[in-house]
Formats: sequence, C-alpha cells, structure tokens
Amino acid sequence: MNAKDPDAADEWPLPPSWMWGCEKCTELYRAMKRAPEVVEAARAAGGPGVDYDPMDSVVSTQIRLAHHIASTHAADVPDVDPSCDRCLSDTRRATDVFVLEHRARHLFIPPAIAGLL
Ligand SMILES: [Zn+2]
Ligand SMILES: [Zn+2]
Repeated sequence: MNAKDPDAADEWPLPPSWMWGCEKCTELYRAMKRAPEVVEAARAAGGPGVDYDPMDSVVSTQIRLAHHIASTHAADVPDVDPSCDRCLSDTRRATDVFVLEHRARHLFIPPAIAGLL
C-alpha cells in the first residue's frame, strides 16, 4: 500500500497472519466483516417500524476485536502510525489500554476509520 495514494486511507488492510492463528481474532474479525449484512438481514426480517442501527453493531464489533488484540496480543500491536493524528496525540500516554486499542485498529480497519476512535 502506497501512503501517497489518496485511496489508501479508505482501504481495508489485510490482517496479519498471526490473527488467523488465533481463534478469537478470526471469529471477531469475521463478525466485524459480517456485521453490515447481519444488520441488513435483521432489518429486512423486522419490517418497518423496527429500529436498527447498523453503525452501532459495526462499531461494536470493531471495538471488541481491538479490545481483544490489546489485551491478548499487546506485543503485536503496531507502533504509532506517523500519518495518524490520533496516534500522534496519544503518545504521551502510550501505556494506556485505550491507546493500544486504537493502535490495534490499524491492523484491520482503514486508516480513515481507525482515526475516528
Ligand atoms: Zn486473538
Ligand atoms: Zn492511529
């Protein structure tokens, strides 16, 4: 991936191979990628008047995966991404678990989305 490519910020990165070696990572990653479809299916089955929030369940699967990586694979969490404002502003409290969770997001979601949380 070329950092100068304007589309790179929206590209879904390929998760590192160690994630596929972990059952929990694989399960949570698949749940995250499936979340929009699951929400869509629930909406179709529920009919009008039923309130579903797709972003909510997509974001919560991302948070669960980032949390799992930060707590189980802390040694594999990437370093600060110099192109990410959020990473740079977090350096002063680099041991904070939320910082690890944020940096873990860079492993599996596009930089443009990773920077939001
Ligand atoms: Zn794992
Ligand atoms: Zn970042």
